[in-house]
Amino acid sequence: MLTDYHLHLRPDEEGTTFERFFTAENVDRYLAAAAAAEVEELGVSEHVYRFSQALELWSHPLWESNGRDDLDAYCEFVRATPLKLGVECDFIPGAEDRTANLLEPRDFDYVVGSVHFIGDDAVDHPGWDIWEGSSDPDEVWRRYFEALAECARSGLFDILAHPDLVKVWGGTRPAPERDPRFFYEPAIEAIAESGIAVEVSTAGLRKPVGELYPARAFAEMCVEAGAPFALSSDAHLPEQVGFGYDVAVDFLESLGVREICVFEQRQRRLGPLPSRVG
Ligand SMILES: [Zn+2]
Ligand SMILES: [Zn+2]
Repeated sequence: MLTDYHLHLRPDEEGTTFERFFTAENVDRYLAAAAAAEVEELGVSEHVYRFSQALELWSHPLWESNGRDDLDAYCEFVRATPLKLGVECDFIPGAEDRTANLLEPRDFDYVVGSVHFIGDDAVDHPGWDIWEGSSDPDEVWRRYFEALAECARSGLFDILAHPDLVKVWGGTRPAPERDPRFFYEPAIEAIAESGIAVEVSTAGLRKPVGELYPARAFAEMCVEAGAPFALSSDAHLPEQVGFGYDVAVDFLESLGVREICVFEQRQRRLGPLPSRVG
């Protein structure tokens, strides 16, 4: 079976209001796209920073200008649809208890944990670009994967999102000198200890880097560590549902991975992957 759990019902741009995108018609567009892509399990995981409740976790200016919607209204809306209910929640160092207080009372099927920021700077967000100025790539990569390790180890999340997002800009940003495996190591250790599912995301295929998250070497280290995988597109539009799944399924197959994670009420089981897609 195929899943697409990490997806958004709207683009990240300003003006993409809850009222405009959280509608039965829009959900139907995503369901139709999932059916066409033979994705059986479809879930939504809106960014936590779009909700006013996230301001209890962090007061970054980007969050303050985006945190408008009500998390409970979102949960209620999704529960009335055939979609699984998830949320994409940033790992905020020092806010672990507040994050647990936000997540635990709500009946999510899964929580996608992600790292987009190092300090106040983002690895993937223009306007807060960590690469502006004189960032040392070895330092950026080291700090990114250390944050990812903390995210995994926090125990707050079911799925570790786009695990090597730091590479998103590809050759348009400086690359570290050292072998990437050196930077992956602390994250892999935390993945192994925590048992968190590792996301294979086709979103990287749509970005300047032009490849899946994570890189093959990272995925091979996850396989060695016995980590399970989850599969998602990180779609922000209906036509991105199941995007690049032929590439992702081939990738998993080439790693000897035959099953992916299926979630319900934050319980995980493994489902068989089809041998070929598209
Ligand atoms: Zn993300
Ligand atoms: Zn996302």
